[in-house]
Amino acid sequence: MPIYEYKCNKCGQITEEFQIDTNVNNELLCKKCGGDTKKIVSRVNTDLVNNERYSNTMGVNPRQIKEAERMFPGSVYNSKGQLRINNRKHKIYEAKRRGLTELD
Ligand SMILES: [Zn+2]
Repeated sequence: MPIYEYKCNKCGQITEEFQIDTNVNNELLCKKCGGDTKKIVSRVNTDLVNNERYSNTMGVNPRQIKEAERMFPGSVYNSKGQLRINNRKHKIYEAKRRGLTELD
């Protein structure tokens, strides 16, 4: 199941949330100060499988792979629902398509 991270716009606190449905509203309030947050994608949150890199933060539930491939044409998912990432440029491209901000 993918883990999503949210960064607080006010205090910078990062909150992790498990989410099955990638289509749910991205809004989540900061657990520390109650401020607005923005969904982010972590730089390090990838798995190396058979020499290919897969993103955890941009993953989907395996049952939603077909739907996700329709929503984001050209995206490749493995059987665990993780999104294949070719390189850093590709990761930023995929994150932007999903309305995510990369965490520095
Ligand atoms: Zn906060």
